[in-house]
This record gives sequence, structure tokens and C-alpha cells, in this order.
Amino acid sequence: MRLRNIPGAKEEMERSIYVVEKPSLCKGSWTKTFDSMYEVRKSHALDGTGKSRPLHIEIGMGKGKFLMEMARRNPDIDYIGLEMFSSVLLRALQKREEAEKNGLTFSNLLFIREDARLLSDFFAGGEVDRIYLNFSDPWPKARHAKRRLTSRTFLSRYESVLIPGGRVEFKTDNRNLALFSLEEAKAAGWTILGFTEDLHHDPAFLEGNVMTEYEEKFSSLGNPIWKIILERRRS
Ligand code: SAM
Repeated sequence: MRLRNIPGAKEEMERSIYVVEKPSLCKGSWTKTFDSMYEVRKSHALDGTGKSRPLHIEIGMGKGKFLMEMARRNPDIDYIGLEMFSSVLLRALQKREEAEKNGLTFSNLLFIREDARLLSDFFAGGEVDRIYLNFSDPWPKARHAKRRLTSRTFLSRYESVLIPGGRVEFKTDNRNLALFSLEEAKAAGWTILGFTEDLHHDPAFLEGNVMTEYEEKFSSLGNPIWKIILERRRS
């Protein structure tokens, strides 16, 4: 997704308290970052346990519909959305503001405007519990395979930040990309915990499913949606 360049989008990002400006400074201390950002969490942060909360991230978040709903449903999990384009992230910010105007508040959701190639600059080893990839760009030309977010190049980036046994959950309507992703995962030594070629007609996989913007669009066209769940090596 690449929206028309929106004048002022970059400046708006910089002004927003929900977009972490220098994510590399938070590496290894994301729970603390959330605690210091959100007043309502301060009492928990001071309860002396110092316990980290689960951290789930979405790479290529787009306009943020999926992650906002996940954050609403799961207040005990922290969520970070990574999106590389200001013009797209701006839409997510606007959605969040709209939700907050309607009385919904989040104390477990932050955004990063960066390229996922730099993932290990932002997260320490074992800091991330789960990674969501939803309708990632297919990069159909063979010479661009490394840019696909499920290529072995990216899988090794995910391996460097996920806990042992951490998961990648991937949805797409692109059959070739799904098959490529399964091959790459096998070659890179990941466990394929399961997959479905038709999420919306697979009751076990569908339970708790949160639709993304692209998922709504493609499923309304009748495209079957794949879902693949991968598990990182345990040692
Ligand atoms: N996940 C959303 C959904 O399902 O509706 C958006 C899907 S859109 C096709 C893919 C998004 O991934 C785009 O907004 C794009 O800017 C973002 N993206 C692609 N490569 C990325 C990367 N390397 N780092 C961060 N974001 C990326």
C-alpha cells in the first residue's frame, strides 16, 4: 500500500506521541517505554514485579485496523505497528484519534515509522513474542524475492528478535507468495505449526480472526485467504 504522498505527513508523525521517534533507544526496554508513556499503567509499573509484558508486532501495518482491534481485545499484551510510509501511518493515527474521540483508549499500542529491514536495531534478542504479517507486498519478480517479508532473509531478522518458540502469523490471498513462504520457512528451519488455504471457511483457524483492510477487500472479491503459522526454533 502506498498512498499518494500527503504534504505534512512526516511532520505530523514527528508531532504524534504515539509514533516512537527513536525506536533504537527503546531496544530491550519496551515494557518500560509503554509504562512511562501511559499514565494509567504507572501503578502497575511501580508494583515492584518489573515483569515484562508480551510484545506482539505487526510489520507492514498499513492503516492499523487489525492492530487496533487486537489491542482493544487484549489489554494485557503490548502491540507495536511498524509501517515504513508516513502517508500510510498517518491514516492509522487518524483512525486511532477517531476511536479515542469515541471513548476508546489504548495503553498498549504504539507505532514505529521505519523499514522492517532494521528490526534488530529496535528490538533485543528474545524481546518479541509474536510477529504478524498481513497481506505483505508479493514482489512477484524473482529478482525481488529477498524483499518479500517471508523470505529467508527476513525470517532470519525475525529469528534475531523473537523468543525461542515465538511465532510468525501470516495472512495473504496470494497463492504464490503463500507457497514461497512455506518453502522459505522449511529451508530456514522454522516449524510450520499449521496453515489453511481458506481461512474464512476453516472454523478452527477462523476463531478469533481479526480482519485487516486488505483482507476485507480481497475476501469481498471472493479470493480465498491463506493463513500460515510458523514457529521459531526453540534453541
Ligand atoms: N497489513 C495491512 C493490511 O493487511 O491491510 C496492509 C497491507 S499493504 C499491502 C502492505 C504494507 O506493508 C504497506 O503499507 C507497506 O508500506 C508496508 N511495508 C512493506 N514493506 C515494509 C517494510 N519493509 N517495513 C515496514 N513496512 C513495510
